[in-house]
Amino acid sequence: MTARPRIAIIGAGWAGLAAAVELAGQAELTLFEAGREPGGRARRIAASGSLLDNGQHILIGAYRECLRLMRKVGVDEHRAMLRQPLAWQRQGGIQLCCPSWPAPWHVLAGLLRATGLGWPEKWQLARALQSLKWRRWRLAEDMTVARWLQLQHQSDWLVEQFWRPMVLSALNTPLEQASMQILATTLRDSLGGRRADSDLLLPRQDLSALFPAPAQRWLSQQGMCWHGGVRVEQVQAAAQGVLVDGQPFDAAIVAVAPYHAAALLQEPQLQAQVKAFAYWPIYTAYLRYDVDIAMPAPMMGLQGGTLDWLFDRQALSGERGLLAAVISAPPLELQALSREALLRKVEADVGELLPALNGLQPVAAQLIVEKRATFASTVGLTRPHCRSRVQSVYLAGDWLCPDYPATLEGAVRSGVTAARQLVQDLPSSRVASR
Ligand SMILES: Cc1cc2nc3c(=O)[nH]c(=O)nc-3n(C[C@H](O)[C@H](O)[C@H](O)COP(=O)(O)OP(=O)(O)OC[C@H]3O[C@@H](n4cnc5c(N)ncnc54)[C@H](O)[C@@H]3O)c2cc1C
Repeated sequence: MTARPRIAIIGAGWAGLAAAVELAGQAELTLFEAGREPGGRARRIAASGSLLDNGQHILIGAYRECLRLMRKVGVDEHRAMLRQPLAWQRQGGIQLCCPSWPAPWHVLAGLLRATGLGWPEKWQLARALQSLKWRRWRLAEDMTVARWLQLQHQSDWLVEQFWRPMVLSALNTPLEQASMQILATTLRDSLGGRRADSDLLLPRQDLSALFPAPAQRWLSQQGMCWHGGVRVEQVQAAAQGVLVDGQPFDAAIVAVAPYHAAALLQEPQLQAQVKAFAYWPIYTAYLRYDVDIAMPAPMMGLQGGTLDWLFDRQALSGERGLLAAVISAPPLELQALSREALLRKVEADVGELLPALNGLQPVAAQLIVEKRATFASTVGLTRPHCRSRVQSVYLAGDWLCPDYPATLEGAVRSGVTAARQLVQDLPSSRVASR
């Protein structure tokens, strides 16, 4: 009987874990992770004595591969996340709540009933979305979102109240730089799909409990070998298979951020492609008050404020008095502020959104800055193929998923794609049946 192939996975973010879950049962797996815990950019961290997510995340119903793999490792979606129909509630701006009707009526009804938008703007927005749908969500030539909005004659009000915050949330890239094709792909998968695809899934549990920790447990039960706290220095082709820091494997999946992949593989074409990637930060401010909090909705925005979205963590995960404020792709003037100054601005926004907290001092305040939170979803970004030019080495990570922004779903899809490609390329005698 032939031995099962030995496969190394480098990086236990959502992409690497997805690749491992996909390969389990077909190979002998070894997972190397530089951090002590799995989860990468979407995990729980210890910050000043408390456990917090390293950034507030949201998922949507269209994250099919995330949901499939969560189920596979035993996560109950309904316990793990609050599912609610698409809603957009920004104080001083647009308020839109879609009913649970079949698509596309839910969007149409939500738009017709929306407040903060005049009839001309509702018509402009519906027409712009419909024009994308008619073109099957593909542009003949990519351009910035800002340019496309001009061509669609979207009013300044609509751009500032709807498109700008939406593009920041979905792509973490300002619309003057953001790729319209990447935005169109996310709109296709959410608004262009079934009603449930546009649902918002708000985590009720911490990010590690959502997938990384159950995946790690499940993989260990399947016999995976876990090397946490191990930073791999080099991945090279060998006469047969690959060497991971000198250890032989039949194949490897490198599931790390672009800049780490370029350093690990020393492959000139990949290094050139990675140079084209730019990055944007995301700030998450956690404010804990010594009172019970009940926001009118679990996720709300503030038009013209510093924070983009505020999350009621007490309502979502039962953490008393805890709010999470997200600032996506913060402009340079915000990045230049001290932590204290930025937290004061966020506190002022919280006071506007929740007058009951006005004047109250939080008992704890934490600002988590992820400097390279996501790659910038810019125009003309080339994604490398998952089969690298180094023999028997495959690539995974959110940056590899074609036409997708940096998201959990992009990461998971890329991991699944790399795993399937690897299995397809192995001689059939080496593949164990599931
Ligand atoms: C603050 C914040 C908010 C976000 N909000 C959302 C959101 O609301 N919705 C959404 O869908 N997405 C969101 N994202 C994006 C999402 O978190 C990422 O797209 C996703 O986590 C990327 O996963 P990944 O596996 O591709 O990469 P990573 O998470 O970067 O995983 C790579 C792993 O490789 C490890 N590694 C690197 N080098 C080595 C080495 N040499 N040896 C061993 N291990 C190594 C790293 O430690 C890391 O664990 C957000 C991101 C941030 C930071």
